[in-house]
Amino acid sequence: MTIPRRAFAIVASLLLLVSASSRSETVPLAMTEVAAGVFVHNGVHEEASSANDDAIANIGFILGDDAVAVIDPGGSAREGRELRAAIRARTDRPIRYVILTHVHPDHIFGAATFRDDHPDFVGHAKLPGALTQRGDYYLHRLRNTLGDEASGTEIVPPTVLITGRLDLDLGSRRLILWAHGPAHTDNDMTIFDENTRTFWLGDLLFVDRVPVIDGSLVGWLEQLREATAIPADRAVPGHGPVSVPWPAGADPERRYLEAVARDTRAAIKSGIGIANAYRQVANSERGHWLLFDEYHPRNVTASYKELEWE
Ligand SMILES: [Zn+2]
Repeated sequence: MTIPRRAFAIVASLLLLVSASSRSETVPLAMTEVAAGVFVHNGVHEEASSANDDAIANIGFILGDDAVAVIDPGGSAREGRELRAAIRARTDRPIRYVILTHVHPDHIFGAATFRDDHPDFVGHAKLPGALTQRGDYYLHRLRNTLGDEASGTEIVPPTVLITGRLDLDLGSRRLILWAHGPAHTDNDMTIFDENTRTFWLGDLLFVDRVPVIDGSLVGWLEQLREATAIPADRAVPGHGPVSVPWPAGADPERRYLEAVARDTRAAIKSGIGIANAYRQVANSERGHWLLFDEYHPRNVTASYKELEWE
């Protein structure tokens, strides 16, 4: 049987329409409930691309009796919309807080999606400065990488700033937020959910994907020591599985950071230059981490600059 040409054209354009609308329609993000009322979306272990909409970090939300707190709105407006749809598929309680764990775009560039909910955007006291310094560059880079998929993505500065500690009440549920000293970045925040003893670490904790040192290596080891004293049952890493046991889940990251510190100090001492140091540093860690070659050399360069004046 031959299909009349006109009918074929109609079917073909219908198919095109269907595929175009399925791309623009908002599909709720897949979420895992790691503990009662604690929902995490698992980011992919890739660099940002138009195929993944920069959905590369673990992000999610916590439900209280009265309100919802988003913990990282995602890497683009599109991912933010999908996260919001995942929340609205479960509850119509108000989204009262959007917590921005740190300046990196894969975590917070979905924030504009939540503006109409009029939440408090909560961030580290040093987050506004970091956004001023880097925000435009990050946005430009995202637009280059994502093209049209980046549309609607904007920088949203925090409206509530934290130094030290802040408690948030979601209704029969208290979240304790801490602003940390320089570690992964100079504006890292973590969140502890008392009800389920779940500790959400953002990028203070990397599992499987190699840690990125963009703050202070020495500081990170110090913050990790303090964080492992928190009596949590499980942790949500910024990258890695949606949940790991705590504090055991921090062991591989500590091992990596200690190896970088030890070997970088040795390289400096033996007069190896900054450009070549990465070849000698923490080679024992190769094979333990995804994206090692993409990020390890620059971690060593950053650590070298930090440690050479010790
Ligand atoms: Zn980060």
